[in-house]
Amino acid sequence: MSKKVLIVGGVAGGATAAARLRRLDENAEIIMFEKGDYISYANCGLPYYIGDTIKDKEKLTLQTPQTFKQRFNVDVRIGSEVVAIDKAAKAVTVKTTDGRNYVETYDSLILSPGAEPFVPKIEGASNENVFILRNIPDTYKIKDFCNKSKPKSAVVVGAGYIGIEMAENLHSLGINVTIVEMADHAVGPLDYDMACEIHGHIQSKGVELILNKALSDIKVINGQTVVVLADNSHIPADLVIMSIGVKPETSLAKDADIQLNPRGSIIVNENMLTSDPNIYAVGDAIEVIDFNTGKPAFIPLAGPANKQGRIAADNICGTKSKYTGTQGSAILKCFDMTVAITGMNERQAIAEGINYEKSFTFSGSHAGYYPGSTFMSIKLIFEKTNGKVLGAQVTGYDGVDKRCDVIATAIRAGMTVDELADLELCYAPPFSSAKDPVNMAAYVAQNLINGNSKVFHWNEVEKLDLDKATLLDTRTVEEFENGTIPGSINIPVDDVRERVGEIDKSKPVYVFCRIGLRGYVTCRILTQLGFDAINLSGGYRLWETIFIHKPMPKSNTFAEAIKEEHLMDLSEKSISKPAVSLKLDTCGLQCPGPILKVYSSINELGVGDVLEVSATDPAFAVDIQAWCKRTGNILLESTQSGGILTVRVQKGVPQDPTNCASGHCDKKNIIVFSGDLDKAIASFIIANGAAAMGRKVQMFFTFWGLNMLRKSQNVKTKKNLIERMFGFMMPRGSKKLALSNMNMMGMGAAMIRGIMKHKNIDSLESLIQLALDNGVELVACNMTMDIMGIKKEELIEGVQFGGVASMLANAEESDMSLFI
Ligand code: FAD
Repeated sequence: MSKKVLIVGGVAGGATAAARLRRLDENAEIIMFEKGDYISYANCGLPYYIGDTIKDKEKLTLQTPQTFKQRFNVDVRIGSEVVAIDKAAKAVTVKTTDGRNYVETYDSLILSPGAEPFVPKIEGASNENVFILRNIPDTYKIKDFCNKSKPKSAVVVGAGYIGIEMAENLHSLGINVTIVEMADHAVGPLDYDMACEIHGHIQSKGVELILNKALSDIKVINGQTVVVLADNSHIPADLVIMSIGVKPETSLAKDADIQLNPRGSIIVNENMLTSDPNIYAVGDAIEVIDFNTGKPAFIPLAGPANKQGRIAADNICGTKSKYTGTQGSAILKCFDMTVAITGMNERQAIAEGINYEKSFTFSGSHAGYYPGSTFMSIKLIFEKTNGKVLGAQVTGYDGVDKRCDVIATAIRAGMTVDELADLELCYAPPFSSAKDPVNMAAYVAQNLINGNSKVFHWNEVEKLDLDKATLLDTRTVEEFENGTIPGSINIPVDDVRERVGEIDKSKPVYVFCRIGLRGYVTCRILTQLGFDAINLSGGYRLWETIFIHKPMPKSNTFAEAIKEEHLMDLSEKSISKPAVSLKLDTCGLQCPGPILKVYSSINELGVGDVLEVSATDPAFAVDIQAWCKRTGNILLESTQSGGILTVRVQKGVPQDPTNCASGHCDKKNIIVFSGDLDKAIASFIIANGAAAMGRKVQMFFTFWGLNMLRKSQNVKTKKNLIERMFGFMMPRGSKKLALSNMNMMGMGAAMIRGIMKHKNIDSLESLIQLALDNGVELVACNMTMDIMGIKKEELIEGVQFGGVASMLANAEESDMSLFI
C-alpha cells in the first residue's frame, strides 16, 4: 500500500521535502499545507524586490501549486492552516481561509512551519507604517507603502542580516535610513573587531548606525512617527522595519505535546524525527546540533532547512540519512561589501573554554598588478594546541564568498591550519594570488602556533605600560606622520638593523605596521638580535578601524562633498562641476604607490584641471585628504563602489615650499653614503614620499652610495689602472647592490626584489626613475667621482653634479637631513 505523507509549511524545508519524497517514491500520496498563498518562494530575495534590484515580482515565486503538482504530483493546498495534530489517530485538522475545517490522516507527518519575527510588546508596533518582513505579503505591504506614501525617512530596528539588507534596499530607494542596534556591533555572529570593518562602510553610504541603544517605544507625535530609544532619544521615521530576530513557530507542535526545548524549538534526532515516531520536523522550527560545539542551538538558515527537508524525506522512504549539524555558514551583502562567516566566533570559543588563538590577515582578492584587485580581511580562529580550524570571518569585496567557503569546507573536514596552508587553490592573476588569502591566513596562524611569531591584539594596546615596554611603529615616516598609535616611536622596517641601538633591549618591544607583515619582519630581526619582540595582529589598520572608527569618505555627490569639513570652503552658488582632464588607475597598488602616482600625474596638469583617481588601497582614503591639504590641491569628490575608491582632485595653485619667510623652509636633504640595497630603497622611498608631499628634495650621493647611479652597461672611458680596478670591483649600477644584512651571496637581495615585486612595491630602478620624474635632485659628489675615477658618462641620465657646498646649501634650506 502506498504511504501518505502530510507536510506542514510549503516553503524552504517543506517544499524540498515534498520534491525529494516524490523523487524517491512515485506512489506516495503527498499533501503539502501552506497557510499563506505562496509556496516555495524566495524569502532570501524579498528585500531586493523592495529595493528594486529584483524588478519582476513573479521571480520571487519559484513555484505555484499548479507547477508543483505538474512536476512533482504533490497535492498543494494553500490557504490551509494545520491547527491541530492528533498523534494517536495520526491525523491533522486543517482550517482553510474560506472557513472550512477538515481532518486529514497520515502515515508520516513533516513539520516545517519556520520561524516568526519577534515583535516587541510596545504600543506603536502595530502602527500602519511599522512592518516586519517574513513573507511575500509582508513584502508587498512594504513595497506598496513606499510607492504610495513616498517615505523620506526610515528606521530599521536591528542590525542583523535582514535589518542590513532592508537598510540597503530602502536606502537605494532614496530613503534616509537609520539603523538602531542594541548590541555594540552589527551582524551578531561577527565578533566586534570584524564588525567594525563594516560599520564605517555603512556610515559611508549615508546610513546612520546607532549602536548600544535599544528600542523602547514607537510613538506618534503631532502626526509624525517617532522611534524612542532607551536613552529617550527620539528619531522621526516615516517608515519603521522591525528586524530584531526570529523565534520558532511551534505552537502547533507544543499543543500536540511534541517535545520542545525551553526556547520553543522542536527537538529532533539526527534523522529529523521528533519525540513522536511518525512526525518529523525540519527548518527554522527545530533545535539543531551546533557542528562546532556539539551542543543544541537555534540557527535559522535556508541551507540547513533545505538539507533537513531532504533528510526527513529520505528517512520516510527508508534511507537512513543523518543530519550532521549546522555550522552557521552565512553571507551578507552589506552595500558594496561582502560579509561571510563560518564556524565558531571568538565569543563561542571563549564560552566553550577552548584554548584558541586568532589571526588577522589583509589580502588582495587577486594579484595586485591585475586590474580590479580589492582587499579582504580574514579573521581565522583556531585551537592553539593542535591548530584545528574553528571558525572564520571574512569581510571585503570580490572573492570573500569563495574564501569563506573554502574555510567552511576545511572546518567540516576537521582540518588544521597546517592542512589549510597546504591547500592548493586555483590561481591565475584575475582570480587570486599564488599565495591565496586562505593560505596566507593559515601561514600566519602556523607562525603563531610554532612560535615563529608572537602577537598582541588590538584590545591589549591600551593596557601596555609604556614605561616598561616600547611601542614601535615600523611604517614609513609618511605613514607615521599621517597617524599612529599614541606613545609609539617610528623606525621604518628598512632602518631597523641600522637604528637598532635606539631601542631599549631591556624592555619588550611591541611592534606594529599597517597590516602586520612589516611588523612580522621587524619582529624576526629583533628576536634574532635578542629582543623580546611582539607583533600587533592585524596591524595599525585594524586598530585604527576599531578605535579611530574613521568611516570611509561618504559616497558624496559633488555638492555634498564640498560641504565636508576637510574639503574646500566654497559657496555652493559658484560651483559648476569641472570636467575630468586625466584619469589615473592605481587599483592594486599599496601605500605609498597611489599617492606617488597622483603626484606625478598632477604635475602634468594645469591649475584648475581635474584628476580622477581610482584606488583600492584603503589607506588612500585618508592619505589623499592629507595630501591635498598639504599641497594646496582640492579634493572635490570621493565615491566608493565595490571596494574601489574614486576621487577627483582639482589642481590648485602650487604652494612654494621653499619660502622660509612664510615658514615653509621644508626642503629635504638626504645624503646617501651607503651602497646597500636596503638602504638605497629606503632612501628613495623617503625621497619620493617627500616629493609627493610637495617638498623639494635633494639626494647627495657620496662614496659607496654613488654606485647606484652608475649605468649597468660598461661605458668605455679613459681610466688609469687604479680607476679601472675600482670600476671593476665596485657594483655597476643599482641592480648589483647587495643587502646590508642577510645578503647570502646575493640570495637575500634577490628575495627582497621578489617580495617587492609581489607586493607591488616599485623596484629600486623604478624608484630612481620616479624620483627623477618627481623632480628630486640627484646630485653626484664630485669628490667621490674623482677619487674612484667615475666619469660623468658612466652615470644615469638626469644626475646633477656638485660638491659638499651645494649639499650644505641645500641642508640649510631643509628641515630634515638624513645620512643614510
Ligand atoms: P519557512 O521557509 O519560513 O517556511 C515556513 C512556512 O510554513 C511559512 O510559509 C508558513 O506560512 C508556513 N506555516 C507555518 N505554520 C503553518 C501551519 N500551521 N499550517 C500551514 N502552514 C504553516 N537564510 C539564508 O540562509 N540566507 C539568506 O540570505 C536568508 N535571507 C532571508 C531573508 C528574509 C527576508 C527572510 C525572512 C529569511 C531569510 N533567510 C535566509 C532565512 C531562511 O529563509 C529560512 O531559514 C528558511 O526559509 C527556513 O525554512 P523553513 O521551511 O523552516 O521555514
